[in-house]
Amino acid sequence: MSISTLPTTVATRTDALLPLVGADIEVPLVPSGTARYVDLDGAASTRPLASVAARVTEVLPLYASVHRGAGYLSQVSTALYEQARQTVGRFVGARDDDVTVLVRHTTDALNLLAGAVPEGAAVLVLDCEHHADLLPWQRRGPVTVLPTAGTVTGTLRAIGAELARGEYALLAVTGASNLTGEALPLEEVVALAHAAGTRVLVDGAQLVPHRRFSLAATGADYVAFSGHKTYAPFGTGALVGRRDWLDAAPAYLAGGGAVHEVTVDRTSWAAAPHRHEGGSPNVVGAVALAAACDALVALPDGARQQHERALRTRLVDGLTALPGVRVLRIWPDAGEPTGVVAFTVEGADPGLVAAVLSAEHGIGVRDGRFCAHPLTERLGVPEGALRASVGVGSTTEDVDRLLHGLTRYLTDGP
Ligand code: PLP
Repeated sequence: MSISTLPTTVATRTDALLPLVGADIEVPLVPSGTARYVDLDGAASTRPLASVAARVTEVLPLYASVHRGAGYLSQVSTALYEQARQTVGRFVGARDDDVTVLVRHTTDALNLLAGAVPEGAAVLVLDCEHHADLLPWQRRGPVTVLPTAGTVTGTLRAIGAELARGEYALLAVTGASNLTGEALPLEEVVALAHAAGTRVLVDGAQLVPHRRFSLAATGADYVAFSGHKTYAPFGTGALVGRRDWLDAAPAYLAGGGAVHEVTVDRTSWAAAPHRHEGGSPNVVGAVALAAACDALVALPDGARQQHERALRTRLVDGLTALPGVRVLRIWPDAGEPTGVVAFTVEGADPGLVAAVLSAEHGIGVRDGRFCAHPLTERLGVPEGALRASVGVGSTTEDVDRLLHGLTRYLTDGP
């Protein structure tokens, strides 16, 4: 695709819960005209909150290398970086003795943990996971990939039966599906796992942007998430959880900052988190991530869920009223999903529908198999689907624009 005209920004009034940077971008349409860009692809990457952008502008002048610099700005940057770590840990309800490792994204966090699970110990994972929560375990081995049942009850029963074999050191489970926004009841999953002596990793990439989550409250042992899905810029994320495996594991990134002492033939490694954060860290990114965490935590309890509920209901009701449009669900008996909705249009190529929505209506949705090939197979859509997601920056107008665009597609064709 060639983009000949750069978007411009215009001012609009919105009913968003929190303002995002670039919420008013105007994009060119085919065959002519422009429209405010409707971003319904936050499940892939959210644009940053306005408060995050303001914080980045504030700290950029203070930017200096952390940890070993004696200069004043190095000290300021070190303090900012370590404060950001505390904020990120608190955001996911870290216990006092948990470790917060700052990483690049969820994929990074899960690969790190895969290298920290004691050697030879088995991992259990479901087939509904994003590839980021599947491939690191497959590559590491031994792993069992459990088929997801068609109900939450059936899936919990299958997990319980498999865990009862007593073979697993870790169960890696999604906090919310990246296709459907559905989740298993985490407290119940944790109870099943702990009864079998198994730890639980929650892939929080699609959970923490939408709902409050707490390691302490759920009892889960680890959580991983990404800044770029949580209203901060790219390049940040976290793995938070139990210290022992992380202290014993080989350094994830060997290099400066990860060590106490080095001779030519012997290295004494630092404890976690520094053990796994070799190299110069992303200070501004960590501060931005912490600012996003602060903004989400400052919202009243349940505000995100309530905002998304209204938009999701409007979206799902509108989609199901359209002829040939089917909303995908893994578990009809799941609790309230987040603002992530996958759907198909009968007889239509998802890629073509997404392209028409973009070109003719200025709407960004995702199409394809969502890095979850086993799940798209299981849901009977091996050729893929469309996905629209709403969050704190989304508005009623966004949802209505999508429904209008789809109606036009169904009426006029591609
Ligand atoms: N886990 C889930 C559930 C996701 O949706 C994604 C990304 O879409 C990831 C993990 C990987 O996130 P990242 O690409 O930020 O590493």
